[in-house]
Amino acid sequence: MSTIRFTAVQNASQRQPMESVAHQDRSQLFANHVFDKNAMRAYLTKEAYQQVCMAIDKGGQIDRKVADHVAASMRDWALSKQATHYTHWFQPLTGATAEKHDAFFDLTSDGTALENFEGSQLVQQEPDASSFPSGGIRNTFEARGYTAWDPTSPAFIYGTTLCIPTVFVSYTGEALDNKTPLLRALHAVDQAATGVAQYFDKTVNKVIATLGWEQEYFLIDKSLAQSRPDLVLTGRTLLGHAPAKGQQLDDHYFGSIPNRALSFMRELEHESMLLGIPVKTRHNEVAPNQFELAPIFEEANLSVDHNALLMDIMGKIASRHNLKVLLHEKPFAGINGSGKHNNWSLQTDTGVNLLSPGKTPMRNLQFLTFFINTIKAVKDYEFLLRSSVASASNDHRLGANEAPPAILSVFIGEHLTKVLDDLENVSEGKLSPKEKTDLKLNVVGKIPEILLDNTDRNRTSPFAFTGNKFEFRAVGSSANCANPMTVLNTVVASQLKAFKKEVDKLIKTKKLKKDDAIFNVLRDYIKKLRPILFEGDGYSETWAKEAKRRGLTNTPKTPDALKARVDKQTISLFEEMGVMNATEVRARYEIQVEEYVMRIQIESRVLGDIARNHIIPTAVKYQNTLIENVRGLKEIYGSEYAKHASEQMDLIEKISSYIANINRGVTDMINARKKANAISNNEQRAQLYCNEVLPFFDEIRYHSDRLELLVDNELWSMVKYRELLFLR
Ligand code: ADP
Ligand code: MG
Repeated sequence: MSTIRFTAVQNASQRQPMESVAHQDRSQLFANHVFDKNAMRAYLTKEAYQQVCMAIDKGGQIDRKVADHVAASMRDWALSKQATHYTHWFQPLTGATAEKHDAFFDLTSDGTALENFEGSQLVQQEPDASSFPSGGIRNTFEARGYTAWDPTSPAFIYGTTLCIPTVFVSYTGEALDNKTPLLRALHAVDQAATGVAQYFDKTVNKVIATLGWEQEYFLIDKSLAQSRPDLVLTGRTLLGHAPAKGQQLDDHYFGSIPNRALSFMRELEHESMLLGIPVKTRHNEVAPNQFELAPIFEEANLSVDHNALLMDIMGKIASRHNLKVLLHEKPFAGINGSGKHNNWSLQTDTGVNLLSPGKTPMRNLQFLTFFINTIKAVKDYEFLLRSSVASASNDHRLGANEAPPAILSVFIGEHLTKVLDDLENVSEGKLSPKEKTDLKLNVVGKIPEILLDNTDRNRTSPFAFTGNKFEFRAVGSSANCANPMTVLNTVVASQLKAFKKEVDKLIKTKKLKKDDAIFNVLRDYIKKLRPILFEGDGYSETWAKEAKRRGLTNTPKTPDALKARVDKQTISLFEEMGVMNATEVRARYEIQVEEYVMRIQIESRVLGDIARNHIIPTAVKYQNTLIENVRGLKEIYGSEYAKHASEQMDLIEKISSYIANINRGVTDMINARKKANAISNNEQRAQLYCNEVLPFFDEIRYHSDRLELLVDNELWSMVKYRELLFLR
């Protein structure tokens, strides 16, 4: 068995790296398969081009005639690149991407073949969508869901298919996808942030949210992965003893990338470049076989699409290299899991990063305004941000001493803490000229343009300020970023709107000057946001206690964390900001609770099967060998046999006890599942899966992993960690 396993690895490692890719000029490749502004300029009339740009930048309407022209041009462009099919590409609430391909090819009434694609096909489609989760918004007997063109994310060609990014909405207009609420949240933050940015610069007309994600993942040999039912069906290992050597030597992090991984990365980067995903960095991560890929940041909607697209093509490309990508947050016990840091900021149409300090006191007051408002928003909605990253798979990571804890806090570093301390002492009302000069020169003026704060490497913080952006680190590696980005941008939008209202009120009622009013409101905010600021060790137990004292939520388990999604405060926030109505909010909650149950249910079934079909039979086989051995020894030594067979007898007994524990564990787990399944209330069922089914996983695993250490390697039917985890 072992010989076969290693042959598979070696064959695959002998593949030739893609030399041709390495030698191509990257800048020429970039976005070659994207119908972006460059391609549009070449293919559209000036009028159509301008109308599409208006729709992209200002959300304007595209009329039918122009849509027909855009469709025809898009088709010509796609055909020139050998595309044969087109699809509306969308992100249903499964978190994955969905597509249904149609050929451009069509027949006229007299049977002549032609390549057809009209405005109506570009703008709207009606996929048979009855099988996508809708959380009860759309009854299956009335399964109408529409996809509608999102011109803010350009169409692209993948393989031979023209993919048109779309939103997915129900017949009654409710969002059935992740993108629609995200677009609404981005609109809300644009409006609110533009209003505030105009205090500092009247020429600002638009603010975009920017997102730069860092995607962590594992790469393992495909044939080996395929031999393990847990990896195939759940994306993670449910059993397996840690290898003698794991990550304790720290020799993988930033180490030299194994050849097989590198040839995969080259092809992935090549494809990404063609698709306009600006991939920039690649490196080994902490755990063996763990890697990271990060692009240059982009406008958030585009960046979310690019991440979803990347996750999809990673799997396809890996397969061509006989590799399998694991995006699961915790594919292997005992070594680090994977996350997806979301670097986030706000940027004006005048090119200013609103979270980047500048050279002048005014620029820095603007920076402080956005900086403090963001922290205030996180403080007020920490429970909601936590819930935005909740999933069965991310539960393995948050709070497991390798990723941020499930408690949300903000890290800002020593320097900015001092700035906040100083600002908090600003006197109430009108500031004296001396105080103002002092503030501007000594507090605001002293924020260096680039904050070189070494302590920003506090890896335990879930939400850290890193010089010119915030880094939301609790997002899981398999997550669609739309959800956390929708929440973050909505809470910041709401906060900025409230801020503007307060400042305007002070200007009007107290006759304060604009900057006096701003200082006053910021000072009050600083007092209120203190509980969310934390610079210490997020892994420590003292922090959990301290956080509780401060009133912060600590919900390490998804069913508890998700409740925040349907909190009264949440629903009115989303309604007020025009991001989701109550039905849309509740539908998402239901889908997530249901998904949680299904994930644990599937894992539990797979674990039961492996335990009974692989582990126990293998253990019995080995135990029989031992029994045979003892019988032989008895034959040779007669009554003296015990002297020679005592260790074997001991092993036989141990094996019996492990087998008994595993089998009993599986029986009890199945009973717990039955009990949970009998409950019709989704929420209660999720609680039972979480608290009564899940705990058996560790117990069964413990005894199985003990057996793995005992049983003859020749007999063990599951590929081991040491074979899975070391690509060469
Ligand atoms: P790190 O040290 O965490 O790797 P980097 O500065 O290299 O930090 O950036 C990490 C990620 O942050 C990259 O994906 C980058 O594109 C993104 N990023 C940088 N600036 C911004 C910004 N203004 N808005 C959003 N993301 C940003
Ligand atoms: Mg980072």
